[in-house]
Amino acid sequence: MQPISLYSIKPFLPSAGRPLQKTGGLSFYYFIVIMSENCLFCKIIKGEIPSKKIYEDDDVFAFYDIAPQAPVHFLVVPKRHISTIMDMQPTDCELVGKMLYRAQIIAKELGIEESGARFVFNCKADAGQTVFHIHLHVLGGQVMGWPPFPKD
Ligand code: AMP
Ligand code: ZN
Repeated sequence: MQPISLYSIKPFLPSAGRPLQKTGGLSFYYFIVIMSENCLFCKIIKGEIPSKKIYEDDDVFAFYDIAPQAPVHFLVVPKRHISTIMDMQPTDCELVGKMLYRAQIIAKELGIEESGARFVFNCKADAGQTVFHIHLHVLGGQVMGWPPFPKD
């Protein structure tokens, strides 16, 4: 494996600029970096894999889902790698709030403000999570059913 510099770790720190010793030690960050290097959505964010980008700022990235499940289906992701919602920390609250707020703005821009939409985080196996970098699905443009699983 390539040696990992502090520079490469920095984008994944929970709070950029805080000393590593105060945020849990290096081993956790090595783990995060290794996860990130193999992550599809980290590669999309870096432009290593193409996507139909909708929006980007310092914190979040939004793009159309490659296999849309509704007339409108896009994803909003944090630029910093977080594997699942179960891994979310108190320091991530503002970031996840930004994801949700950006999803709302994009949904309005795409014309589904009045008709509504479903805002979904799939988490781990029971929910069918397939990409382990948190992503907010926004689905709209048609009436959807509930519950979101087959009835007996
Ligand atoms: P989940 O099953 O909740 O983990 O959702 C992963 C989503 O990522 C699925 O809806 C996929 O269609 C979508 N997806 C997978 N690869 C890509 C890609 N290269 N570009 C855009 N969306 C993708
Ligand atoms: Zn990632």
